[in-house]
Amino acid sequence: MRVLELKNVTKRYGEFTAVDGVCLEIEKGKVLSLLGPSGCGKTTTLRIIAGFTSPDDGTVEISGENVGHSRPYERNVGLVFQDYALFPHMTAAENVAYGMRHRGTPAAEIPSRVRKMLTLVRMESMELRYPSQLSGGQQQRVALARALATDPQIVLLDEPLSALDAKLRLELRIELKEILRSVGATTIVVTHDQEEALSLGDEVVVMRAGKIIQRGSPTKIYEAPADKFVAEFVGRSNWFQGSPRGESQDGVSTYVTANGIEIRARSPSGRHDGADLCIRPENIELVDGAAGEVPGNRELNVLTGVVLDVAPLGADVHVVVELPGKSRLLAIRKNVGRSQAVAPGQTVRAVFDASDVLVF
Ligand code: ATP
Repeated sequence: MRVLELKNVTKRYGEFTAVDGVCLEIEKGKVLSLLGPSGCGKTTTLRIIAGFTSPDDGTVEISGENVGHSRPYERNVGLVFQDYALFPHMTAAENVAYGMRHRGTPAAEIPSRVRKMLTLVRMESMELRYPSQLSGGQQQRVALARALATDPQIVLLDEPLSALDAKLRLELRIELKEILRSVGATTIVVTHDQEEALSLGDEVVVMRAGKIIQRGSPTKIYEAPADKFVAEFVGRSNWFQGSPRGESQDGVSTYVTANGIEIRARSPSGRHDGADLCIRPENIELVDGAAGEVPGNRELNVLTGVVLDVAPLGADVHVVVELPGKSRLLAIRKNVGRSQAVAPGQTVRAVFDASDVLVF
């Protein structure tokens, strides 16, 4: 069942178009991540859904009903803001109860519902604390409990984890995902953090300059980005500009960079113009030495270079390799211990498949 549908929603501020003909629908129980750089119109889209901002054009339907004329409190939408926006003079329990009172939940049902919500977010032991007596992560949980308490048709989360430090962010991200799934909440999460978007969403919608550029599963967005912008924005990548050389054979084309580096790419059709080539760092294998056994075939790229920098980042090691003409390549390998360690100054070959080269 379709819970939300935006049809051609546009919002202008003077000459500037903040949201530009956005069409978006979401099915019941799904979590959608709205991802894009700062200023691309994510928050404005969320505010239009919640009813805080009116669109200049287009319609918003919630459960098939055009809500264009209803005020925010008349829409059954649960909101969690970036800074949680808890009422400072109310305890955790009172904060959770607040929305229910205003939405007409029978008074007798409120205490048990508050307890249920606080238990859901593991805050039942802190119900009498005020926001100033809670950590950022705990406040975020209370804000989530408050948003879910009225059993909203849609839950809107605006950068819900951005105020937390990296470790807590990761913990709460996993918890948030579990909670949303367990209550079957239909949710839109706005974030500019690609990891957050890919891990929380059943689907990811990428926005740029007020428009939706791509919508798809997290895997699709990462592995088959619609354009250079999406590829650059989602995940790390190495970029080369190349001109095609010769005809493509069996779907594999050879491109040559200005520095004379040859890169083979499996691209759907032969191209005659220059192309931007993108290689994800985790798809690059590093092989010791300049010579020796690397199976040579048309599907494989083998580029020789010198290790410039090695950064051991816990589970992964980031290795920067300098190729001829001073171009650089980042390779990410698993931290598998000393036996396979590489060191600055060492000659290595960077090996990657032609099918792992994205062509734009
Ligand atoms: P961020 O991640 O930084 O919050 P965002 O993608 O959520 O960014 P929005 O807050 O939706 O971006 O803003 C989109 C654009 O619209 C921005 O360029 C912003 O400056 C502009 N904008 C938003 N609200 C107003 C307003 N009330 N008046 C004028 N311009 C506005």
